[in-house]
Amino acid sequence: MTAFRPSRHGSRRPKVSFEFFPPKSEEMEVALWESVRRLEPLGPSFVSVTYGAGGSTRERTHSTVKRMVEETGLKPAAHLTCVSASRDEVDEVIRAYWDAGVRHVVALRGDPAGGLGTVYEPHPQGYHQTSDLVAGLRRIGDFEVTVSAYPEKHPEAASLDADIEALKKKVDAGATRAITQFFFDNDVYFRYLDKVRAAGIDIPILPGIVPVQNFRQTANFARKTGASVPQWLADRFEGLEEDAATRRLVAAAVCAEQALDLIDRGASDLHFYTMNKADLVYAICHLVGVKPEPAVAQAAAAA
Ligand code: FAD
Repeated sequence: MTAFRPSRHGSRRPKVSFEFFPPKSEEMEVALWESVRRLEPLGPSFVSVTYGAGGSTRERTHSTVKRMVEETGLKPAAHLTCVSASRDEVDEVIRAYWDAGVRHVVALRGDPAGGLGTVYEPHPQGYHQTSDLVAGLRRIGDFEVTVSAYPEKHPEAASLDADIEALKKKVDAGATRAITQFFFDNDVYFRYLDKVRAAGIDIPILPGIVPVQNFRQTANFARKTGASVPQWLADRFEGLEEDAATRRLVAAAVCAEQALDLIDRGASDLHFYTMNKADLVYAICHLVGVKPEPAVAQAAAAA
């Protein structure tokens, strides 16, 4: 029998960051703010708020981020895309963020207006590529700019090398951090990191972690975004379709395993796609040593 080997983790506490999406209803607004308030004491390096496809959440993203600036001690980042908007329109959004005290933007091209799988058509007067948007942001204000990265390549990219070349352009334009698309096999992330470093890109590449709240939904989304779903993951959720309570426990175990392995293998930052639900993320953070500040101090004193 193989001996149980607990994670070597314990001495190194990672930095964490959290992604939220803007609420669509009053009920969702309440749920979002409960999650934000629960995760805030964990002292994330930043939190980010997504921008709906085609700019559909422009106002809601703005008001959510603004409220975070005004009512919390968090450092929010606003996601922004180039889709279906002229440069003047995008620049207006950027200036409104600057005026609201937002200093961090997650710059993205965005999905094609016709939906995933259709051809991306840049707006004739718009920013054509993410690297152009990054440069635009840097021209307008001294923003911290984060971009996306795809360990399993973006579905539209001809090859992983071409995708890494696109990442390099974004870095050359002024991006200082990347967050990856979610993945489940940590080898995929570390192989990607090796390739990115070999290409001369030295910005932090934060692993994006998705706690699997609903396996079927996550697998569907993964298929569209080009993220692979290992058979072992499907096996772990198999037979639990009608058993939400066990599914949650399994989801916590799977996510904890992934986070601990990332840390054991050198990751210093973890970015969580929270889906506006705090519980699972809070538990994983606790497990990797990220606790509300007084609890961290007490633990250190007792050690
Ligand atoms: P890009 O880096 O712009 O790449 C898109 C494609 O173009 C790739 O195939 C790339 O290789 C190629 N490419 C890029 N630059 C060049 C170039 N100079 N020359 C040749 N080819 C190039 N979508 C939203 O609508 N709202 C969000 O809030 C949002 N948040 C996201 C957050 C993260 C962390 C991630 C990983 C994705 C997010 N997305 C979001 C999804 C994203 O908008 C889509 O994946 C979109 O299809 C690509 O935009 P991008 O900026 O990620 O990719």
